[in-house]
Amino acid sequence: MSNEKSALDAMLAQYEKNNAPKYEKKSEKVYDLKNYFNTFIKEGVKSATKEIRILPSSDGSPFVEVHGHKVQVDGEWKTFACLKHEKGEPCPFCEAREELLATGKESDKELAKKYAARKMYVVKVVDREHEEDGVKFWRFNHDYRKEGIFDKIHGVLTALKTNKDITNPQTGRDLSLSIQRNQNNVPVVSAIVALDSTPLSEDSEKAEAWLNDGRTWEDVYSVRTYDYLEIIVKGGIPVWDKDEKKFVDKESLKSNSADTLEEELTLGVENVKANIQAATTTSAPTASVETEDEEDDLPF
Ligand SMILES: [Zn+2]
Repeated sequence: MSNEKSALDAMLAQYEKNNAPKYEKKSEKVYDLKNYFNTFIKEGVKSATKEIRILPSSDGSPFVEVHGHKVQVDGEWKTFACLKHEKGEPCPFCEAREELLATGKESDKELAKKYAARKMYVVKVVDREHEEDGVKFWRFNHDYRKEGIFDKIHGVLTALKTNKDITNPQTGRDLSLSIQRNQNNVPVVSAIVALDSTPLSEDSEKAEAWLNDGRTWEDVYSVRTYDYLEIIVKGGIPVWDKDEKKFVDKESLKSNSADTLEEELTLGVENVKANIQAATTTSAPTASVETEDEEDDLPF
């Protein structure tokens, strides 16, 4: 009898382990806004300048390529890391795209674009205005028209005659970003210039701490599970069900008591809004592919 029981326990434990969410460390994730650099400007502000220093990477380019899917969830644009590109695993967005392309219909082909993974970059920076926050992560989109942030930085680098390695801790350069609102009132980086060559910091302890920050983008942007993303692809809103210990569609749980659910998405968005008052509400819901490309949105 006891053998039978322990075998069952072992099986249950194995089941639990194999079905546990692989990436979500816990159900409620509160974003620490200090970790993110962005080019939002407050409502009513027309333009701004921000100065940053890009930190060197220990392995190759400081611009880490990440593929993500952009989608509106509960009225807000969100970006989710693509499981296929980033993990080599099945991705609900990519699957939806492939299914649409397979029908051969012109209208489906058009719709499939919505589910395509977008290339973006994540770079670690120090925000000169908020050095006390430490190292921040800046994510921006690749721009196939070659008018994006990476293209502008590339332009800066090719124009420099000396000290071209802008990430060098001793002889590198800060970058000054000019931010303007575009025709859709969305703040975009309109120009980037390199400033004079300066050390990363006069304070060697500070510089050391920034240079030794070992975090990667995955430490600050959550990689969601297949089940979570599938709810979004189907047009739902994932909420954490404490009893089931998994994400479920908010809609499917309407009759349940509201306090068993944690609307982490909404919480995350509200936190961000309260702090930086993102001026995206007027244009984001109707943003076309073009304007959406330029938009700086919220953490994954
Ligand atoms: Zn994908």
